[in-house]
Amino acid sequence: MPLIVQKYGGSSVASIDHIRRVAMGIATSKIMGNSVAVVVSAMGGETDRLLNLAAEISHNPPGREQDALVATGEQVCSALMAITLESLGHRSKSFMGLQLPLITDNVHTKARITDLHTETIKSALDEGMIPIVAGFQGVNEDGSITTLGRGGSDTTAVALAAALKADCCEIYTDVDGVYTADPGICPRARHLKRISYQEMLELAGLGAKILHSRSVELAQKYQVPLVVKSSFGGNKQTWIVNEEEVMENSIIKGVTLEKNVSKISLIRVPDRPGIAYKILAPLADAAINVDMIIQNASIDGFADFTFTVPTTDLEKAKELVEREANDINASEMLASNNIVKVSAVGIGIKTNPGVAAKMFHSLSAENINIEMISTSEYRISCVIEEKYGELAVRAIHKAFGLDNVKEERK
Ligand code: ADP
Ligand code: ASP
Ligand code: MG
Repeated sequence: MPLIVQKYGGSSVASIDHIRRVAMGIATSKIMGNSVAVVVSAMGGETDRLLNLAAEISHNPPGREQDALVATGEQVCSALMAITLESLGHRSKSFMGLQLPLITDNVHTKARITDLHTETIKSALDEGMIPIVAGFQGVNEDGSITTLGRGGSDTTAVALAAALKADCCEIYTDVDGVYTADPGICPRARHLKRISYQEMLELAGLGAKILHSRSVELAQKYQVPLVVKSSFGGNKQTWIVNEEEVMENSIIKGVTLEKNVSKISLIRVPDRPGIAYKILAPLADAAINVDMIIQNASIDGFADFTFTVPTTDLEKAKELVEREANDINASEMLASNNIVKVSAVGIGIKTNPGVAAKMFHSLSAENINIEMISTSEYRISCVIEEKYGELAVRAIHKAFGLDNVKEERK
């Protein structure tokens, strides 16, 4: 009997009516002769609601408590889904991360899975049940609840599919697959029937929240067949596959907008060996990901040092950097979160030298100033002012000929 892992995101389970409809879809897969294990997110908007409650009390709550708080969203939803399936005459049981258990490291709010025990789920499946796993959450070796980072239920689903050696992992969401840009921002975005793990990994890592980037990494590593579909019906879907299975190859596969970006600048930092290390090492120790770094030309032995961090880590980063800034006698520390990062992604970038120039031209034609630039084999990213983010995505998308002129999405 084929074994399928299905994951339903927040917008697909946003109300009891949504949950009922999803439960009927799950039941249909089961009736059609599949063994089905399900992963659910919290009901749409619930994770934000819980985070906002914590933010009313503290701008930097302890990670352990934040995780204990937000994990309740998935717990509620998994139980409601199991109750609904039972009400439809199917045997079902909900499981929290710590009941499997799904073991993670100790990095609260963005933990990584270190082990996933499947005995409980396997015996539920063997008994003909439909197990419903609460996504996004795990437990660390101290027994504390952890979460996998925003959007992390995708990763729970792929990890479960890999561990169960499932035939397929289906990600159900509010769009019918992966597009060349977020269709909510770029109405002319094109639907992709297939995309390589590598390109999807870049898109996801640069802000395309359709899939959690760690989920793509795991799918590639364990060769999990992964498909993105709409939970609201329709025939379209996107398969994430190996590079050689992608037929049509364009230089640029997609354009992304990353909003979770902030910058910190240290003004008049002594320009001598070891300073960058001194500023950034505490951030690395705190698992804060520093992305782009700029140091301007030194004047009188002093330079300004600017770098980006995720906005979700900004408060913590400011605290850590301020200590170092005092130590090295920087004259001032500035922080701002009114920036975004736009990126063009594609495996053709490394072999096509004109790509960066084309991207910069499309931004300048819209009078958008570029504050920072970074490139790799597969992508070019620019940091720009937040208010131009969506315009920039559309401009770059058009410049690379990605616009779908035949069929504009409504
Ligand atoms: P879920 O709650 O189901 O996990 P998410 O909101 O996390 O859903 O992800 C789906 C959303 O991802 C879409 O509604 C869309 O706005 C956004 N998105 C961003 N980039 C893309 C892209 N390239 N293709 C499709 N959707 C994208
Ligand atoms: N509920 C979590 C979030 O909103 C995890 C997820 O949806 O995948 O980020
Ligand atoms: Mg998501």
